[in-house]
Amino acid sequence: MNTTTHLKYHIKTYGCQMNYSDTERVMTVLEKMNYEPVDHYNKADLVILNTCMVKKSAENRVYGLGEPFAELKEKNPKLRIGITGCMIHKDTGLRGDSKEKVFRTMPTIDFVFRIKDLMHLPDMLHKMHHMGGADEVSEMKSYFHISPKITNLTQVFIPIMSGCNNFCSFCIVPFTRGRNECRDIAEIMEEVEKMAKRGATEVNFVGQNVNTYKPTDANPDSSDSPFTQLLRKVDAVKGIQRIRFYTVHPQDMGDDVIALYGELKSMVPHLHLPVQSGSNSCLKRMNRHYSVERFKELIDKMRAKIPNISISTDIITGFCGETEEEFMDSLNLVKDCKIDLAYVSKYSERENTLAARTMEDDVSYEVKKERFERITDVMRQLSVDYLKQFVGKTVEVLVEKVEKGYASGKNPEFKLCRFKADDPKLVGEYVNMKVTDSKEWVLEGEPV
Ligand code: SF4
Repeated sequence: MNTTTHLKYHIKTYGCQMNYSDTERVMTVLEKMNYEPVDHYNKADLVILNTCMVKKSAENRVYGLGEPFAELKEKNPKLRIGITGCMIHKDTGLRGDSKEKVFRTMPTIDFVFRIKDLMHLPDMLHKMHHMGGADEVSEMKSYFHISPKITNLTQVFIPIMSGCNNFCSFCIVPFTRGRNECRDIAEIMEEVEKMAKRGATEVNFVGQNVNTYKPTDANPDSSDSPFTQLLRKVDAVKGIQRIRFYTVHPQDMGDDVIALYGELKSMVPHLHLPVQSGSNSCLKRMNRHYSVERFKELIDKMRAKIPNISISTDIITGFCGETEEEFMDSLNLVKDCKIDLAYVSKYSERENTLAARTMEDDVSYEVKKERFERITDVMRQLSVDYLKQFVGKTVEVLVEKVEKGYASGKNPEFKLCRFKADDPKLVGEYVNMKVTDSKEWVLEGEPV
């Protein structure tokens, strides 16, 4: 029984799609407890920050909210603020207790919880706000069993695993999310089928390294990896037209997954394959166990199946000890491989990672920035070159939004497309668009 009603909540989400997907599960719990969503934390009685620590800037943005929250609490004594996500993790023995650090740095915080402990959120809120409901949640064995609140049926994000065993030297994820934990195929399929029945046509699988997916219910006699088994099953679900997945690791990408391109109807001609650096010596320091040659070989295999496949990647500039020569290797790699989109980031040291403990962050911020700008300029041109091929052709756009007189969405290659339209019913529809022009990052056209 609720003793208080109409309390308002707001969740601020940072970081990757995994966090956005987790947020949808937190929303389910809060709404079962009768909290109502509001679009800004200024209006809320409960604020939850779902945090990211991959970059220092993301962590700083959270700590920057300390002051505004203190002011809001003076105005609204009911306001409670909680933190979950990557900033809250088990004491690794290396960095001390993350909870204490958060409370010390941001005294306005009332509570923290690991996302894996989402089942205990109702108890916490009951004590703080005397809210009831969601009793069944506390009985659940895993937070994955909580159904997500569907905020976007056009593209659904489904976590298939959490955590990572790789320990790339720059990355904090294994410390924040812990080691690989995989959901069973049957559980994921139930979620996919439920979404498909409600009208979802594009499934986005998320996990830190989807190629190391190891559920307990995969067929051990199959020559396919468990991830491939999952992809085959999802492709057969009525209504599913596109499958995307993030993130793949070049070291673990198997030929069985590559073989599905061109075979399964819903495998889109786009692959995000994070290389991080184009230099073997830098990859070694990053503790990435593949070579540039292996990365190129994977791309060649993909292009042999789908010549115009879109390949995107991640690049870090200014990693510990990165020389100008090593940076040029990255620059040349994106050109040689005709990468059409790169998420470029300037290296920022993350406490207790292998790099922070054993290497010097010795590339100055100015150099990191200058390299960031140089490679971003190259990527701009590579994107322009890639997009030109679509001009005059017809592409299939899954419409994500209609605003300011334009409908926009992605084609199968994950390129942003837009055309003039003002009917909001187009959202979630597939529209064929004749491409009339290509800009730096967008294709423009008209429906046909
Ligand atoms: S594969 Fe490397 S970069 Fe990716 S989550 Fe794991 S440790 Fe981090």
